[in-house]
Amino acid sequence: MTPTLIDGKEVAASVRSKLQQEIDELKAQGHIPGLAVVLVGEDPASQVYVGSKVKACEELGIYSQKWTLPAETTQEELVQLIHQLNADERIHGILVQSPPPPHIDEEAVILNIDPRKDVDGFHPANVARLVLEDAEGFVPCTPLGCMELLKAYGIETAGKHAVVIGRSMIVGKPMANLLVAKNANATVTIAHSRTRDLPGLCRTADIIVAAVGRPEMVTAEYVKDGAVVLDVGINRIADETRPRGYRIVGDVDFEAVKDKCSYITPVPGGVGPMTIAMLIANTVKACRQLTR
Ligand code: NAD
Repeated sequence: MTPTLIDGKEVAASVRSKLQQEIDELKAQGHIPGLAVVLVGEDPASQVYVGSKVKACEELGIYSQKWTLPAETTQEELVQLIHQLNADERIHGILVQSPPPPHIDEEAVILNIDPRKDVDGFHPANVARLVLEDAEGFVPCTPLGCMELLKAYGIETAGKHAVVIGRSMIVGKPMANLLVAKNANATVTIAHSRTRDLPGLCRTADIIVAAVGRPEMVTAEYVKDGAVVLDVGINRIADETRPRGYRIVGDVDFEAVKDKCSYITPVPGGVGPMTIAMLIANTVKACRQLTR
């Protein structure tokens, strides 16, 4: 089977151009969407992610604040900043880059974010709204991006069996909730590290979403002919042939799997580019909801 490659860069560009129109409309009404990104510590990967988020705001002409706090920032200081951002009318979305240093209780920090500004969708109020299928809530950006990819390629989910590998609050669980919701109507199995016979289970899937964090774990024996495979994984593996000494691979062994698939996302260039586009989408949505 010749697979269709799902081009995340292209879909993200089209999402961004639709958002640009919405942003221009909001600006014409006197509202500029605003995002605050908070980074505690100096984790190099987090610095790159935060930089890309702020850059996306600049490209789309929305207001942003980047807060870079030292690693020794206390929980109280961080919470104080969150309260300040909750009260700032220029800010519609607040994001605390994960993971914070170990002395910070991430869940407790998230509880302090005004749920109406929680554009990462991590606050329990937004988790509940997702389960309740309340469209006003905020859904984590990466699974939201996966749904956009399915929509963009006209991939039917109703009545299909989707296996989501991974049960994190950032990807696996929200992904499963989105797929089972009444506007998607898939039958969903969530698999995790204790699932028995994962390859056998995955072979029953019409759609596989891999969000594990294990390089190229999903091999040909996991995939039935004609399946749709979305690969959320971003893993570094050593590669001396590359100038940096490593390359990025997904959770799916792309070369081994691709010829069995009807659709597959590459890594990089599949799910990855969607995450920031959906963060901007959530910020625009927050601005609309807070200013209506
Ligand atoms: P996580 O570590 O929080 O969760 C991984 C999940 O995989 C866990 O629920 C665990 O039970 C499951 N798992 C672990 N080993 C397994 C095994 N052998 N078999 C079956 N399940 C197993 O990770 P996460 O934050 O959900 O991220 C998953 C991957 O997605 C990572 O590679 C991460 O870098 C990537 N990611 C990408 C984006 C993006 O923007 N594209 C965003 C978030 C995460």
